[in-house]
Amino acid sequence: MFSYDTRCLMSRKTLRKVLAYDLGGTKIHVGVVNSDGQVLEAIRAPVAVAQGKKAVFEQLARLGNHFLEKHPEIRRVGVASAGPLDPKRGVLLDPTNLAKSADPKEAWGQVPLAKDLGKMLNRRVELENDAAASILAEHWLGKARGYENAMILTLGTGLGTGIIANGELVRSGRCLHPEAGHIIIRAGDRSALCGCGNYGCAEAYLSGRNFARRNAPKLGRPELTGKEITALARKRDRQALAAFDEYAEMMAAAVYSYTVIYCPEIIVFTGSFAAASPFFLPKVRKLLEPMMKRRREGIDLLPTLTVSSLRNKAGLLGGAFVALNDRNL
Ligand SMILES: [Zn+2]
Repeated sequence: MFSYDTRCLMSRKTLRKVLAYDLGGTKIHVGVVNSDGQVLEAIRAPVAVAQGKKAVFEQLARLGNHFLEKHPEIRRVGVASAGPLDPKRGVLLDPTNLAKSADPKEAWGQVPLAKDLGKMLNRRVELENDAAASILAEHWLGKARGYENAMILTLGTGLGTGIIANGELVRSGRCLHPEAGHIIIRAGDRSALCGCGNYGCAEAYLSGRNFARRNAPKLGRPELTGKEITALARKRDRQALAAFDEYAEMMAAAVYSYTVIYCPEIIVFTGSFAAASPFFLPKVRKLLEPMMKRRREGIDLLPTLTVSSLRNKAGLLGGAFVALNDRNL
């Protein structure tokens, strides 16, 4: 079994430092983190996705080497990346959110990131799915600390999901990551095209990017960001509030499905769009209660819904956790 010891870092006495990356479809976050979970220094930058794979690798090496020159004693590197990927072999498996466009000619295909970046940095590199890394970080330092069963939903370019059940990181078959953002919650909805090519996936409604794409025309604008729609909702714009009502309904459907499958005690929301949670989370809670009514006897399966306290550092801290974990020693 390819797994992490989720308790190992708490028992360590000597402080160590690692280099960590959080590589998303829009932004990259790189920094030096110690084994107490303190980010000593870090940089956030837009990812060079539009320039293609080679440019992204050059960017990863440039940013990493900047820190390694200052901290030459660092031996280990952890990368939390948008997937899909194979953490065991350290290989990206045609990551759709890192490709320049949906054109198959721009597809990355299989990329041995751990090996290639390892050579560029002259260090051992571990690769993990960003949502898996985020739930490991939440379990280590954040709101999921002390819970044996927890889930994270990352609301950004996509809808990432990471789960810890019975104290262990959940892997799907073949060691792959549970891509629960792609469960279909409204079959055949031609208004909701997902990046994976299907219609009606949870991600097609719930990622910050898709929420904005879906609702900008309804608000009479060709383009709006999730942040801009949130600002309109804050001014009590009727259409923006209606957009969040639909969002809450779709989120409740997704959360219900995740709850009956994974039974988390707590669900942590993170990612840039989690900042909009005051406009949907109370309604999700309200919708979920009657849906879960028959699942509260004996073991109460209604999860606590909360927003991450790690301030968009969960991916970076998760990358650090992966590099620091005893599995790699
Ligand atoms: Zn999908």
